Amino acid sequence: MVKSEMQEAGLRPGFCGARVRTITACQGCTVCQNGLIDSADLAQEFDRLYCGKDVPHKFKIGITGCHNNCLKAEENDLGIKGAVKPVWIQEKCTYCGICQEKCRHSAIRVDRDNKTLTYDEASCVNCGKCVKACPCQSWEGKAGFKVYVGGLFGNDIQTGRQAVPLVYSREDLNKIIEAVMEYFREHGKKGERLGKTLNRIGWDGLFQKLDGILKK
Ligand code: SF4
Ligand code: SF4
Ligand code: SF4
Repeated sequence: MVKSEMQEAGLRPGFCGARVRTITACQGCTVCQNGLIDSADLAQEFDRLYCGKDVPHKFKIGITGCHNNCLKAEENDLGIKGAVKPVWIQEKCTYCGICQEKCRHSAIRVDRDNKTLTYDEASCVNCGKCVKACPCQSWEGKAGFKVYVGGLFGNDIQTGRQAVPLVYSREDLNKIIEAVMEYFREHGKKGERLGKTLNRIGWDGLFQKLDGILKK
């Protein structure tokens, strides 16, 4: 009765067991002004492509639209976080200093007197706040995805690690996800979460495999 009514409404039940579980996502850029990616649309795509696929143990995919991380990407077996690579356009800059004030990670230094701006890529977390704050469109931002693997949040807690540099296309993102699941099927033991598998065999093998995929 319940199942037939769900079917009529176009709904289907979630999955349990050793499978990719129901995809979770925050509201993303179509609803939230902070959003850098369309989390909900991405979740629908992942639902079609991955939900219910067999893997050695439960596998959670979570998508969070920006660095505020409401969906906590690093707590998932595979987490996606919206991100931006900022690029400074010197000719448009008035050296007002607003971007330096907005950057919580001290990645930007503006010297108003000498009219210089320095950007420290190593300190940048790709939150995109400088791009949104600049009144002169002197920062341009290319939106992309950060991918984390191996997170756990339950009986054991472990922070997932960023698996690859920023990924800019959904095609590359899907290649990465397919490869992570394939690696898990090859190396994971029944009943072992991805993060535990990586702790047991080491993380480098997966990272090298993903690096090779992006270079193809
Ligand atoms: S993670 Fe960012 S985009 Fe998603 S709901 Fe939170 S603030 Fe909005
Ligand atoms: S906010 Fe824009 S105009 Fe102001 S210093 Fe930064 S880049 Fe230059
Ligand atoms: S993207 Fe964020 S962390 Fe990077 S420079 Fe801009 S404000 Fe700072």
